[in-house]
Amino acid sequence: MRPFEYLAPKDLDEACSLLSKHRDEAKILSGGQSLVALLRQRLVSPAYVIDIRRVPGLDYIREDKDGLSIGALTTHRTVETSPAVAKRFPMLAEAEHRLAHRQVRNWGTIGGNLSHADPGGDLAPSLIALGAVIKVVSAKGKRTVPVAEFFTDYLVTVLEPDEILVEVAIPYLKAGSGGAYHKESIRAGDRPIAAVAAVVSLDGKAGVIKSARIALGGVGLTPLEAKEAGKSLAGKKATAGVVLEAGAIAAREAQPTADVEGSVEYKRHIVGLLTRDMLNLALTRAQSK
Ligand SMILES: Cc1cc2nc3c(=O)[nH]c(=O)nc-3n(C[C@H](O)[C@H](O)[C@H](O)COP(=O)(O)OP(=O)(O)OC[C@H]3O[C@@H](n4cnc5c(N)ncnc54)[C@H](O)[C@@H]3O)c2cc1C
Repeated sequence: MRPFEYLAPKDLDEACSLLSKHRDEAKILSGGQSLVALLRQRLVSPAYVIDIRRVPGLDYIREDKDGLSIGALTTHRTVETSPAVAKRFPMLAEAEHRLAHRQVRNWGTIGGNLSHADPGGDLAPSLIALGAVIKVVSAKGKRTVPVAEFFTDYLVTVLEPDEILVEVAIPYLKAGSGGAYHKESIRAGDRPIAAVAAVVSLDGKAGVIKSARIALGGVGLTPLEAKEAGKSLAGKKATAGVVLEAGAIAAREAQPTADVEGSVEYKRHIVGLLTRDMLNLALTRAQSK
């Protein structure tokens, strides 16, 4: 690890002004679960590390009028065990439960996880499928970015060097909607062979799918939305055939590379099966609401 100056701002304004001063020379530290490994391997060598862990007002889960808001410093374990998350978005609690192991979940934060932008990260697929947005601040002001547009390349996001991710906002699902997420991995808590999140909305009692969003993890340089697979379901009756066809389309939309987790063909196969299974689970949940 190369030496750096450690800075611990007392509030968000100070954090923003430090970041605006040092920009590319600085790295934010949240839970440290990815940053410390990068520092130790000298994959990043910032001159300044800005530790925001003690910045007040960024650790919360709030049930607002239109959706759930989660502060950037909220740990995975807090999200995993939150009654509000379990009630509103069980798929997100399930994603957190499969993320690493409890020690990592006690330290790692939702803001750090998304900013790190690992394509195999467990949270992005569910947040994309749920239509969540990310709130960002800097000394210049605020902006909001859909999670679906946040990731631009391998470990790269739309965040400017002076910006801090401060909140994830997830709109509530309408009645007749449901979602599901699963990561298939060699061992529990490992990197994914593939991961799939699906959210569906049904049109009344007719069993017709109004809309569907499917997102994939671990099968591309970034988390991906399988847009064509989602579109293929809209306006159709939820039969085994259309669900299977959506799985085949998602498998084609995946962009996997071969590695220790499996070959390209195997990963596409898993995407197809997981898409079918997550759609079926999401449909069951939608019908029960
Ligand atoms: C053994 C192990 C296993 C893991 N397994 C999984 C897994 O199965 N699934 C999974 O999804 N993750 C996994 N992780 C990742 C981990 O759980 C964290 O989510 C992740 O490391 C980042 O969170 P953090 O708070 O620790 O961020 P940090 O490590 O502090 O920061 C990560 C990066 O994000 C930047 N950053 C942090 N916070 C912000 C912010 N608010 N605004 C802007 N930039 C910010 C930092 O500068 C840094 O570049 C694993 C980690 C370990 C060590």
